[in-house]
Amino acid sequence: MSFAATILTLYPEMFPGPLGRSLAGRALEEGIWSLDTVQIRDFAADKHRTVDDTPAGGGAGMVLKVDVLAAAVDHAVARNALEKLPVLAMTPRGKPLSQARVRELAGGPGVIILCGRFEGFDERIFDGREIEEVSLGDIVLSGGEPAAIMLLDACIRLLPGVMGAPSSGSEESFEEGLLEYPHYTRPVEWEGRTIPEVLRSGDHARIAAWRKHQAESDTRSRRPDLWEHHNDARDQPASGARRETKEPDQ
Ligand code: SAM
Repeated sequence: MSFAATILTLYPEMFPGPLGRSLAGRALEEGIWSLDTVQIRDFAADKHRTVDDTPAGGGAGMVLKVDVLAAAVDHAVARNALEKLPVLAMTPRGKPLSQARVRELAGGPGVIILCGRFEGFDERIFDGREIEEVSLGDIVLSGGEPAAIMLLDACIRLLPGVMGAPSSGSEESFEEGLLEYPHYTRPVEWEGRTIPEVLRSGDHARIAAWRKHQAESDTRSRRPDLWEHHNDARDQPASGARRETKEPDQ
């Protein structure tokens, strides 16, 4: 069964966009995933097809109207009634997206994604409908469409048959709560910099130990937040004492 993506947007022409190329594009052609867009404006009730209004309480910008959003969401849910797809809304106020959540979504039947514009959504849509608010990080994009494309891209590459080597998804950054180790390829020497000797040794045990050490030390120095979380998870249910990583042969 194919992974079904339905996007609710004011800019359906933005899709598939980059998802029509490369791995995701091939997978779309092969029917590994399917794409459906819903124009939110089609659910406006007035003759001007109004989708937004000024913020209650004053302030800059415009807010997406709850009645229009609800009608669009209800339409998309009804259209996918058989699969009971989760409904996600892209918003910087949402829970930061994680690789674990991406993996869960990719393992399911698909997603309905609501893309915001302007100042965002009338908050009552989240009380009135079952919608998961998802953030792509502590940045503000101009619209939910690029965020939806990123989320979908992360899911699609995990679908069976999309990536070449079966292991290529499981060793990557965040899969073990760590950043991935660094990569190198030919030429062996570039501007006086050489590929680490261990990677040219052919000794698979040493290579694996070096990669593990690099993943740990890079996570510790670049992402102390991830490192702390990883250590806490690893130490449980022990007393909480931290383990030091042992440096392998270079
Ligand atoms: N006024 C909002 C705020 O400060 O939280 C920002 C609205 S933003 C200009 C317009 C739309 O872009 C949002 O409704 C959302 O759909 C999308 N968006 C912006 N940043 C995002 C992020 N970090 N993650 C997910 N969606 C985002």
